[in-house]
Amino acid sequence: MEVKTSLLDNMIGVGDMVLLEPLSEDSFLGNLKKRFDHSEIYTYIGSVVISMNPYRSLPIYTPEKVEEYRNRNFYELSPHIYALADEAYRSLRDQDKDQCILITGESGAGKTEASKLVMSYVAAVCGKGHEVNKVKEQLLQSNPVLEAFGNAKTVRNDNSSRFGKYMDIEFDFKGDPLGGPRLSLLGSLAVFWFDLASVHIVLSELVSPAEVTETKTEADSRGTNEPLSARLSQSDTKMVCEKQLLTCDLVRPSWLATRLLFQAYYARDALAKNLYSRLFSWLVTRINESIQAQTKARHKVMGVLDIYGFEIFEDNSFEQFIINYCNEKLQQIFIELTLREEQEEYVREGIEWTNIEYFNNAIICDLIENNQNGILAMLDEECLRPGTVTDETFLDKLNTICADHQHFESRLNKNSKFLNDHSLPHNCFRIQHYAGKVLYRVEGFVDKNNDLLYRDLSQAMYKANHSLIKQLFPEGNPAKVNLKRPPTAGFQFRASVGTLMRNLQTKNPNYIRCIKPNDKKASHIFTDSLVRHQVRYLGLMENVRVRRAGYAFRQPYEPCLERYKMLCKRTWPHWKGPAREGVEVLMADLQIPTEEISYGRSKIFIRNPRTLFFLEEKRKQCL
Ligand code: ADP
Ligand code: MG
Repeated sequence: MEVKTSLLDNMIGVGDMVLLEPLSEDSFLGNLKKRFDHSEIYTYIGSVVISMNPYRSLPIYTPEKVEEYRNRNFYELSPHIYALADEAYRSLRDQDKDQCILITGESGAGKTEASKLVMSYVAAVCGKGHEVNKVKEQLLQSNPVLEAFGNAKTVRNDNSSRFGKYMDIEFDFKGDPLGGPRLSLLGSLAVFWFDLASVHIVLSELVSPAEVTETKTEADSRGTNEPLSARLSQSDTKMVCEKQLLTCDLVRPSWLATRLLFQAYYARDALAKNLYSRLFSWLVTRINESIQAQTKARHKVMGVLDIYGFEIFEDNSFEQFIINYCNEKLQQIFIELTLREEQEEYVREGIEWTNIEYFNNAIICDLIENNQNGILAMLDEECLRPGTVTDETFLDKLNTICADHQHFESRLNKNSKFLNDHSLPHNCFRIQHYAGKVLYRVEGFVDKNNDLLYRDLSQAMYKANHSLIKQLFPEGNPAKVNLKRPPTAGFQFRASVGTLMRNLQTKNPNYIRCIKPNDKKASHIFTDSLVRHQVRYLGLMENVRVRRAGYAFRQPYEPCLERYKMLCKRTWPHWKGPAREGVEVLMADLQIPTEEISYGRSKIFIRNPRTLFFLEEKRKQCL
């Protein structure tokens, strides 16, 4: 990190948490609150941007603001999401480095807004002209389409995205957008009610008219506004459900009836989920087709990832397990890329590599994703095993295999040291994630992972008198009976996380961590406990530690000499020699311990923030 001169002057609280001294969770929260109370919603951790949702519109996204941040160095102005967008855009344009913007936070924290702010900033500063404007228009338009379809009103957010969304925007060599987004979606595990009518409106702007008309006329001919999926799951699932119920009438025993009834409910839910996610993927494919870049030339890419952060509820199930796994992987990338960036700078500056101490969460990723004995692999194994498979047999298996893993805790295991730990119920296991402990209840893991769509249902869908629906269920074609089992939900998710990680690894990362200040969707309220929870589970303290590891600060010699030369008679008022020598004289004169400092080719590196504060304090006394 450069020494951020502007961050030291006239700042409300501390603009960069790396400069926070002393560093503790309390001082971290205190600083966030102080800034939030003064409408400063952005704070840095080095180059990471923390964004607090203000729940009101602030006058900080005007065209004047865009101009202010345009072509300025990251640390010159006060923290802003535009500074990050500008840095990413310029490094894409000038250094030919593909970029990715990683936006995480819980539902309602402001992720989607942040991604829109980044996109509109980039749209505002990149090239102009007819073609470019058309692409910009398409980019900004695709968002409402996806929101209409992928979002739902939940308790936590009026407009919550229920999926992880990754979008690549492609640029040509002048830095003009070519096309994109190449969207991919990371599972839409939790399915909520959605409003197909609103999709129609936007669909007609992007998708071929024939298909839309077809969908519309079908609805019209039935004289109903009832959403398409709703209708299907009523009529066609009824068929399957009735079949099940009929069977139970014949068989009688009531336990069997109950079981079949549950199977029928399950079939209905599986169909609704499948219909929803297949329609969504279809929509994404169509968007991709309609706005893909036309040229074949190599171009630069800016990826935007809008994804839910760690989710910790009182009751955590398969969905949270999957989301948290993805976040564990993102943290791994964060560590890897941050350290790589450090290493590269050390090499550039000719500084000796010093070992950096940090917690490597690879061990937790392994616990979840290892091909042989990872939790997901064991869940798959259990789901595919013949015989009676239940969530309990799955937990038994975990207990046998993971018992000694230092990040796995369960009470069921007879040898368990958690035997009398009543915070750990029998039907649960606990994982010590990098951000903290999370308790998962196994109920539903097997079913959710199976996510089987009964063959009957696929066939019913395929028979539908509707070409789009038919197209969405190709395996329902009786001519193409495939006895192979479809991949499990966990398997699919692991594969898409893997693809995403490989993609991110080739790019230069830019991080935005979103925080929701309260549960009321209200402005001006900062709920301490809620923010503390997020700071913990976003791993922000760990972020600061990784950023502070090695050398907390660095600054080119000239500005460093300029700022502190008054502290030494030999450098004040003018130093005649090279700036580096001036800085060396200055530091020696101030008796800064040699192990605190390294002299690179163009910059001075300072290990501890305290040394910087010492210099700042001296400077204040002189002024
Ligand atoms: P997420 O995608 O993280 O679930 P959203 O981005 O949809 O959350 O934000 C939820 C709501 O919070 C938005 O609809 C908006 O009202 C408000 N909000 C978020 N970020 C900002 C911001 N920077 N300025 C003003 N309001 C915001
Ligand atoms: Mg969102």
